[in-house]
Amino acid sequence: MNVLVTGGAGYIGSVCTEELLNAGHQVTVYDNLSEGHRSAVDSRARFLPGKPEEPGDILKAVRSAKPDAIMHFAASALVGESMTHPNKYFHNNVVNGLKLLDAAVECGIKKFVFSSTCATYGPPDRVPMTEELPQRPINPYGESKLMFEKILQWYRQIYGLEFIAFRYFNAAGASEQFGEHHRIETHLIPNVLAVALGHKPRCEIYGTDYPTPDGTCIRDYIHIIDLAQAHILGLQPGKQGFYNLGNGDGYSVREVIQACERATGKAIPAIEKPRRPGDPPRLVASADKAVRELGWKPKFPKLDDIIVTAWAWHKRHPDGYPD
Ligand code: UDP
Repeated sequence: MNVLVTGGAGYIGSVCTEELLNAGHQVTVYDNLSEGHRSAVDSRARFLPGKPEEPGDILKAVRSAKPDAIMHFAASALVGESMTHPNKYFHNNVVNGLKLLDAAVECGIKKFVFSSTCATYGPPDRVPMTEELPQRPINPYGESKLMFEKILQWYRQIYGLEFIAFRYFNAAGASEQFGEHHRIETHLIPNVLAVALGHKPRCEIYGTDYPTPDGTCIRDYIHIIDLAQAHILGLQPGKQGFYNLGNGDGYSVREVIQACERATGKAIPAIEKPRRPGDPPRLVASADKAVRELGWKPKFPKLDDIIVTAWAWHKRHPDGYPD
């Protein structure tokens, strides 16, 4: 298929682009490089520098790419930042997303693949979390993604735009070529590995008084290549709706730090800090639906294996991407 990937210079989009190309698809990347890196765009892809704020720019990109499907990764995606800059989240994730959706309708795109998030659920009544749990986000990031999910459902009903939306749990790890480099890094695993690289003296634990066995937040980490594979399976005709993507195992912040110590063979000192606003205590997926209906089979279900790939990438790119 010919696929337009928005956000294809970002962490998840870059690896998805690589996996699409490996699977024989053609890819056009549309990215404004606000978070992404030009050198994270696979050289086999066509690159369109995006200016989503400019009227008509998104429509022009869709017309130029003439895709069969759109994978929409471009978004603002930091829980903490969304609590201080909600406008950025509603503007980028909803307003700019809607421009893309309208362009998809206008150009008769067959399939829209959307990056959603477990943050749309908010703190769950039970784990592992299935797709039909109530969605009660506790931060603007999750709310903005939920708003877009709802728009997608109306667009399917009214315009017949077929979509599949993946609710990611915590993306982690790297491919051989592409990995995680945010200019301001807020994510747990790269911040912990930065200590092992010698970039920082210690990592920080945000909150040690959560109602979890060791008092720190629990998350479900999923390898970026497994995420990408689910997106490719989602391109199959007739696949649509909402799917969780995670491994069904929850690891606390302290357990992640220990796993990073095992992967790197280095001691990683940590300092305890207050809670970060907007963080639910425990998010663990049930991805049974993706396994059952899409035939999804994660290659890296274990946290230790995921972190080994992240560490390998960071060692090869200690300063991340050059641009
Ligand atoms: N976290 C932490 N120290 C850090 C970064 C994150 O303790 O330096 C915690 C964060 O509060 C959350 C978990 O680690 O409970 C995962 O955070 P991350 O930002 O990686 O992903 P999120 O779950 O917010 O998408």
